[in-house]
Amino acid sequence: MSMDESIREYCKILSLPVVVSCYQSEAEAAVKAKLSYQEYLYKVLQQQIVVRVDNSVNTKIKKARFPFLKTLEEYDFTYQPKIDEKLIRELATLHFLSEAKNIVLVGPPGVGKTHLAVGFGLKAARARKRVLFYTAEDLINELVSAEVSRRLPALLDTLSRLDLLIIDELGYLSVSQQSAALFFKLVSKRYEKTSTIITSNRPFEEWGEVFNDDVVAAAILDRILHHCHPFLVQGKSYRLKEIMGKD
Ligand code: ADP
Ligand code: MG
Repeated sequence: MSMDESIREYCKILSLPVVVSCYQSEAEAAVKAKLSYQEYLYKVLQQQIVVRVDNSVNTKIKKARFPFLKTLEEYDFTYQPKIDEKLIRELATLHFLSEAKNIVLVGPPGVGKTHLAVGFGLKAARARKRVLFYTAEDLINELVSAEVSRRLPALLDTLSRLDLLIIDELGYLSVSQQSAALFFKLVSKRYEKTSTIITSNRPFEEWGEVFNDDVVAAAILDRILHHCHPFLVQGKSYRLKEIMGKD
């Protein structure tokens, strides 16, 4: 085997496809620019690492299963002036994840609750955190079917290992008492360990109705709100703005 063939073979074994494609042209450029051996190695490895980080972020974003990809930068705060933009920007630094704090966004349809939740989720995925987006309905169905098939402990383990769990649209459908108990188990397991973002159209006073059980709802709220940034998003619907074509 020639040296080039060996290099390609070694790179294949080490999974370094970018090094394969750039090491020769970079070597020629390095000769011309009189780079040191270290500088050359640095440039080649850097190109590989950029692609690897990109791939890992893209994988994180795909695995998160966001319903759409919208960033916090795309959120128009002038349209929702009551939202504390400064606090949103501070939360976007993701300190809340290391503090295992939660975010709850409550408000009517169309005000951008899901958009903000996805925006935080994207920030977290780009920071290579494990993120998973669920509608409350899908999450509860999954918890129930895991319990039926005796996979609940395994599912709770998986969900509690996530850095950020997003639960969207809590309150659109009412939750049976049995499902509320499962939801409580999940919330307790994540309590003070990892962060959760919840969006809901129902104010906290109505969560007793949502969960068909005042006691369990109070216990869920207690855990979620203990370390939490609650937001009331009460402005106008952005969907209607888009339909009506005016402010
Ligand atoms: P909600 O979850 O509160 O019902 P969504 O987050 O689904 O609302 O928002 C509905 C649509 O309007 C989405 O396409 C979202 O990106 C957009 N949207 C809502 N509020 C804003 C805003 N303030 N700035 C930019 N886009 C917005
Ligand atoms: Mg929504």
